[in-house]
Amino acid sequence: MRARRGASLLSDVRPRLVQATSLSKSFERGASHWLARRRSPIWAVREVSLHVAAGETYGLVGESGSGKSTLGRLLLRLVPADEGNVSFDGQDITGLSASALRPLRRRMQIIFQDPYSSLNPRMTVRETLAEPLRVHKLTKTRSETSDRVAELAERVGLRKDQLDRYPHEFSGGQRQRIGIARALSLRPDFVVCDEPVSALDVSIQAQILNLLLDLQDELGVSYLFVSHDLRVVQHVAHRVGV
Ligand code: ADP
Ligand code: MG
Repeated sequence: MRARRGASLLSDVRPRLVQATSLSKSFERGASHWLARRRSPIWAVREVSLHVAAGETYGLVGESGSGKSTLGRLLLRLVPADEGNVSFDGQDITGLSASALRPLRRRMQIIFQDPYSSLNPRMTVRETLAEPLRVHKLTKTRSETSDRVAELAERVGLRKDQLDRYPHEFSGGQRQRIGIARALSLRPDFVVCDEPVSALDVSIQAQILNLLLDLQDELGVSYLFVSHDLRVVQHVAHRVGV
């Protein structure tokens, strides 16, 4: 399938950062109906194998309910797989405990479709961006944290005077800029972008997509880019899976 610059080159040349092998995940159906003889699971993800190379964007397209978000969460080990394996930077993370995963958490982040529901409404932008730096001890002093927050905000196109505002004071596009800054604040190697522009006006979508592309060029981060819109995915992805 046709995709962005350099199509499959990156994945041929660069090491594989994320590798999924025959991943499957099912969910029990909700309340079992008295007529149903036995519960049958719903397969959200079934025997999916894919890899994402360092610095590459893998685009994932599919209808709503086809298991895209579940696959993203499996790769990040936010949900456990029923079958199959996930490896990250050469390490099999399928069965790692929460404590063994902790040092890898910083390196794997997610950007959601609706940043409003993932941002704490009672935290200002400054607090939102400072928190992960503090938790992961990436900055040593208060002034270092504050410098880093200002730098991040500026990089994603937020103004200094907006740092002390709350999420509800922003437009959808600006909120997504906050979500992007938060995800990239820890300098991750891999980010799942789960329909990051699907809730935005078309006129704003391109700005956010281009911001994600510029940041990838600067930081060398890998993306799993999830969307139901093939045109959006073709714009950003090096390779596309359906
Ligand atoms: P997509 O992101 O492509 O819209 P999802 O991964 O969200 O798809 O969902 C795939 C399927 O798995 C759907 O049928 C959904 O109802 C089901 N599903 C997802 N998460 C859960 C869950 N936590 N509990 C039960 N069913 C779920
Ligand atoms: Mg989804």
